[in-house]
Amino acid sequence: MPEDHANSWEARAAAHSFYGFTDLPSVRERGTVVVTHGEGAYVVDTHGRRYLDANSGLWNMVAGFDHPGLAAAAKAQYDRFPGYHAFFGRMSDQTVMLSERLAALAPFNDAKVFYTNSGSEANDTLVKMLWFLARAEGQPARRKILTRKNAYHGVTAVSASMTGKPYNEVFGLPLDGFIHLTCPHYWREGRPGESEAQFTRRLAEELDEVITREGPETIAAFVAEPVMGAGGVIPPSEGYFQAIQPILKRHGIPLVSDEVICGFGRTGEVWGADALGFTPDAIIASKALTAGYFPMGAVILGPELADRLQVAVDAIEEFPHGFTASGHPVGCAVALKAIEVILDGADGAAPLIDNVRRMTPVFEAGMARLAQHPHIGEWRGRGLMGALEAVADKDSGTPFAGHLSVSERIANTCTDLGLICRPLGQAVVLCPPFILDDGQMDEMFGKLETALERVFAEVA
Ligand code: PLP
Repeated sequence: MPEDHANSWEARAAAHSFYGFTDLPSVRERGTVVVTHGEGAYVVDTHGRRYLDANSGLWNMVAGFDHPGLAAAAKAQYDRFPGYHAFFGRMSDQTVMLSERLAALAPFNDAKVFYTNSGSEANDTLVKMLWFLARAEGQPARRKILTRKNAYHGVTAVSASMTGKPYNEVFGLPLDGFIHLTCPHYWREGRPGESEAQFTRRLAEELDEVITREGPETIAAFVAEPVMGAGGVIPPSEGYFQAIQPILKRHGIPLVSDEVICGFGRTGEVWGADALGFTPDAIIASKALTAGYFPMGAVILGPELADRLQVAVDAIEEFPHGFTASGHPVGCAVALKAIEVILDGADGAAPLIDNVRRMTPVFEAGMARLAQHPHIGEWRGRGLMGALEAVADKDSGTPFAGHLSVSERIANTCTDLGLICRPLGQAVVLCPPFILDDGQMDEMFGKLETALERVFAEVA
């Protein structure tokens, strides 16, 4: 329960902080968890309570909360050169090196990288690039962006318009020209009697129909997360990207992979696109790019888009876009270190992606075990990200009544038990740090199981 005296951290947080993406009645009742520091996969609050953060912060703190190498990389760069920009023909040496590294990692040759401070800004930047390109190439009508219902691409006006969540109606969004196709979630969206292959085919046909209806010459890109994250960890139906990519190619529409969550190892591959078996025309990156130790996003353009954009920019001599902190040297130094830690192994430690691969079967076994519960309708996931979907009735998949707030209750009970996980719709989402060990995996599933039993005993 929150402490009510005026000097408590809870009261001070509530007095002067404007909360985003927070269920206020629940926080008013329970108080804010004010966190002071972290220890590996755990965070610690002002009362000294430890929580295993099975969400890696917001999917991003993949190396845990006290990685000495990452902090040292930031400190060393702060000491050497604490801040700079990437305007007017100047940029830091760290920025050059990070672009080289990302170009080498990209699933296509000759990539070009543009930096932002966040994933939202990276999506926003991508759309501005495509709008710029369309006008420069004499196709000013080519402005529409295709995404999917339930997708999450960010919160700026453009990236929120790409996001396929109904809550953006409160802002009068989406903007015109942002079209949301069916979410490729077979379990929820499949029709009675429809096989998974038929479902995939239906979605591919829908894409073709929408492109034809809207006019291919009006569509700038199709943007998709390989595995939807904030939509509730939704891997696409079998064969989805293989079915849609040829349609996009036939209509000359770029496929952009929003790898803000999947990128840099979450699925067990460097890119979610690798895991799902497709080659995108551009990549949006953030989060694990710096292991969450610095705010940074990036647009990584494949060769065709990069070349065409270069020609377009050369014609007017400048691309009029950039953020003060685009390509910040400390961010770039941290990102170089994070990539080393995750993919190469740093300072004598094994690459964290090896641990993702080792722990994935353990994670899947834990999820499958909890999914046997009579009130879990489905478990789904990929690599070290997964969701358990609560249902009132397992056979029909009927959800619990919304007013029961089942997933919020499960997450709150987990918090009381010292485990942070996230309610998303009626699902509970887990995406632990890449450093998770076997004991912590047991702790995570043990606490979640206790929470599920308690909450289902109350509501069912
Ligand atoms: N794209 C995806 C797939 C995301 O999951 C997110 C954030 O969770 C974003 C974009 C937006 O990133 P940011 O919160 O850094 O703006």
